[in-house]
Amino acid sequence: MHSAPNKEADCNGSSDAGTAQRLAAVLARIRAAELRFGRVPDSVELLAVSKVQPATLIADAFDAGQRAFGESYVHEALEKQARLQSLPLTWHFIGRIQGNKTRDIATHFDWVHSLFDIRHARRLDAQRPPERGPLPVCVQVNLSGEASKGGLAPAEVAGFIDQCASLPNLRIEGLMTLPAPGADFDAQRRPFAALRELRDRLARTNLPLPVLSMGMTDDLEAAVAEGATIVRVGTAIFGPRPAAKPETTDH
Ligand SMILES: *Cc1c(COP(=O)(O)O)cnc(C)c1O
Repeated sequence: MHSAPNKEADCNGSSDAGTAQRLAAVLARIRAAELRFGRVPDSVELLAVSKVQPATLIADAFDAGQRAFGESYVHEALEKQARLQSLPLTWHFIGRIQGNKTRDIATHFDWVHSLFDIRHARRLDAQRPPERGPLPVCVQVNLSGEASKGGLAPAEVAGFIDQCASLPNLRIEGLMTLPAPGADFDAQRRPFAALRELRDRLARTNLPLPVLSMGMTDDLEAAVAEGATIVRVGTAIFGPRPAAKPETTDH
């Protein structure tokens, strides 16, 4: 008999051992990939993607040692931040940026992974509260050319970063990509290798970009193999995201 996840129903903050176990399993996957692909141990940071998941699960992950969380929807993220404000968390915005949300992003987030529109860059720069220091950002790159996905074409990245150089309240830290799912490990590695090669080319032209934000639940090993410094993992930590379906329990 499997134990039922009754703690889901307990809103008093009792921690969910399932979240802690899944988090530990993801960290073990990252460590194993670092070892297997000759990466420096502990050089890959885990961003726990908590979009659409309740604040209680974020608190569980915090109890298990996780500090950095990724959110895609500003309104939802701000509600959760308010509920969890007593915890020393760092919040990464990884979703599609909307022009009317840049002030909230600049004010309430510690990182942005998904910047690729110079108008958004200018707004984030102008709206970043000075006391928070420059906002670290990754430039999102679209390597597959899928029209549905955001991001700059690789050839546009250097010019974009040049334009951002005059924005003192943004600090361009690296590149981010969100590729289409690869059919196998080699196919998964290809876009990550392309992002790393782009990063290396830019470094040779005096644009150092230490951060590579790439890899998710299904392809984090491939991303670590190709030099990811941040992997963004949701499902493997928090379970499937609640959809619009009213009933998502397993019985
Ligand atoms: C949702 C999301 C993730 C996490 O995806 P999982 O497959 O659940 O690990 C990572 N990055 C971005 C940009 C996302 O939107």
